[in-house]
Formats: sequence, structure tokens, C-alpha cells
Amino acid sequence: MKATITVLPGDGIGPEVTSQAVEVLSKVASKFGHEFAFNEALMGGCAIDQTGSALPDETIRTAESSDAILLGAVGGPKWSDPTAKVRPEDGLLKIRKHFDLFANLRPVKAYPALAQHTPLRPDLLENVDMLFVRELTGGIYFGPRQEQGDGDSAYDTELYTTPEVERVAHVAFRAAQGRRGKLASVDKANVMASMRLWRRTVVRVHEDYQDVALEHVLVDACAMYLMTRPASFDVLVAPNMFGDILSDEASVLAGSLGMLPSASLGSAKFGLYEPIHGSAPDIAGQGKANPTGTILSAALLLRYSLGLEQEAQAVERAVEAALASGARTADIAPRGGSFTSTTEFTQTILGAL
Ligand code: NAD
Repeated sequence: MKATITVLPGDGIGPEVTSQAVEVLSKVASKFGHEFAFNEALMGGCAIDQTGSALPDETIRTAESSDAILLGAVGGPKWSDPTAKVRPEDGLLKIRKHFDLFANLRPVKAYPALAQHTPLRPDLLENVDMLFVRELTGGIYFGPRQEQGDGDSAYDTELYTTPEVERVAHVAFRAAQGRRGKLASVDKANVMASMRLWRRTVVRVHEDYQDVALEHVLVDACAMYLMTRPASFDVLVAPNMFGDILSDEASVLAGSLGMLPSASLGSAKFGLYEPIHGSAPDIAGQGKANPTGTILSAALLLRYSLGLEQEAQAVERAVEAALASGARTADIAPRGGSFTSTTEFTQTILGAL
């Protein structure tokens, strides 16, 4: 098949990890007989420096004429002045909203080879394989806010509408049907009106998915259960901010923030794929970045936007094989042990592929 992929390397380690994912996608193309074209464009701090905007119109046009977006990460100390009129993260929120990418899928797996990298007992990590479905274009990150306040006060508003909750709930229930048939809906219905609407709506959508077992979990308890009984979760659906926080917490189960991919999807096949980590300015330019989260994001791109399931699984198996062979970037290397660079690690994955 022929496909066009917009690549937004972004800032910090972004370019270091997207270049590795592009290598993997190119290898997939040659191995399976596909033709992938890659169009690079600006977003984030680098875009602010060159155009004054975190998401230039040209980037939107490039993305609109492609099948999917592969993103690295944006931001860094250079653009972190809180009084700045434009911030790199504005680009992220804008692009999600522009393409109406309302569902953020974050698979979290515990790799036996990395068990010693987590602070949890190895027996708790057995069979950990969950999928977060985070609502991405509503809630407190997009609700009415007072940016500057009057000096002494400021507010952000958690606001959800029934259709916003319905559409992400459908994504989550369908995902559960394709997995182990369990869905945990995260909310704070005991305190917040918006979360009572969330729960009511999820209960109503559940009527269409009686083959899925639904549980409601309060967000504070969920934070605890992710550490005490992580293997009990299959699919979790959560409002924007709760999903943001909990999925970062869950990344501990995978051994490093650098391991986890994500897919942001709307109602069509088009999607945006990015690792869950940020631009890691502390290690940028040192060849220390773990490219796994971005490479696994490319696998999700193959699966969801291009419908290439076999190819997606081949990439996922190659990552597991590289880890099983003992290849390690600095973040997942044993303390005091040796590790390979970002590009050497990718070469091991390419070899396995
Ligand atoms: P971060 O995720 O960039 O880094 C947190 C820690 O994890 C750092 O110690 C970093 O070295 C390490 N780390 C992250 N990714 C890694 C990888 N692939 N390999 C090895 N180690 C890795 O979070 P932060 O330090 O809080 O934020 C840095 C910048 O990134 C900020 O400007 C923030 O706003 C931005 N950010 C961007 C995104 C995004 O683009 N989606 C997400 C989160 C943070």
C-alpha cells in the first residue's frame, strides 16, 4: 500500500526518537512491499523559533494531506517562561482539537525482561497488560479558564457534555470487546457534578455492550490499585486530566517512561502517534534516549491508521526480541551496567525485524 506520514520531530529528544521510528517504518515498507512517504514539518518550540507559532498553518496543511502523524515531543527550558504569549504545548492542544482526536489510547505492558526496573515486586507485574483510553479534547484542559487571574485567584473548569463522554466510552467498550472484555471507568463521581455525568453516560453506553464487564473506580483508589493489583485491569477509560496522570503512573509498570506509545484517534482512520514522554531536555543530544515508545507508536500507526495488523505485530515482536536479547538504552540498563546508544538499540530492533 501507499501511505503518506507527516513527521513532527519537535524539540529535545524528539528528533532523535522520530528518526529511529522512521527507520523502522522504512524497513517495514521494504520488507512487506509498501511505499511510505515521510513529510517533515514544524511543531513546538522549534516552530515558535522559526515562525512565531507553535503550530504553523503549513504544518496543518501538510498533516491534512497525509494518512497519519508521527510526533516526537515538544517543549523545553528555552520556551518555559510562564508569561510567554505562545508555548510549545499550545501546538499539541491545537493539533488534537483541529483533527478532533478525542481518544488517546495508551497500551501499558510489563516486560518480564525489565521487571527489575520497576519499584514493584515481580509477582505483581505478572500478566500486566492494560489499555488506557483517555478522553483528549474535553475536560479541564479545555474548559473555561481565567489565564492570569486577578493576582490572587485563577480557575480552570472541568466541563463535559454527554456526547463527549459517549464517543470516548464507545471507543473503550469496543476496545474491551477485542481484548479480555473488562472495562474500568475512572471518575470522581462522589464529589464532582461533571463526573456524575461521566458515570451516568458510561452506564447508559454500557447497555450496548453487555458482553463487557464494567466497574467504576474512583480516581484516587485507581491510583492505588494500579500499584497494588495492576494485572486486574484490562481497559480503563478516564477523563482527560485523570487519564494523563494515571497513565504516567502506569508507565512505572513498563520499566521506563521511554517505553510507552500512544495513539490519538478521532472518528476516522487518521491519527496522531507519539510516545507518552516529553522532550527530556536533560538527555537531549547525548544518544541516551530510549526510542521504544516512538517505535511502538509507529506500530500503532500501522495498526490503526493503515490497517496493517501483521506489520504492527512484527514491530512489537521485534521490540520484545531486542529486549530479550539484552539490548538496553541507559534508562533501562541495570545500575552500573552497560548500555547502547539510541541508534544502536534501533539497529537491534531492525535486526530482529
Ligand atoms: P519528560 O518526559 O521529558 O522527562 C522525564 C524524565 O524521563 C527525564 O528524566 C527524562 O530524561 C526521562 N525520559 C523521558 N523520555 C525518555 C526516553 N525516551 N528515554 C530515556 N529517558 C527518558 O518530562 P519533563 O522533564 O517533565 O518535561 C520536559 C519537557 O517536555 C517540558 O517542556 C514538558 O512540557 C514537555 N513535555 C512534552 C510532552 C509532549 O510533547 N507530548 C509531554 C510531556 C512533557
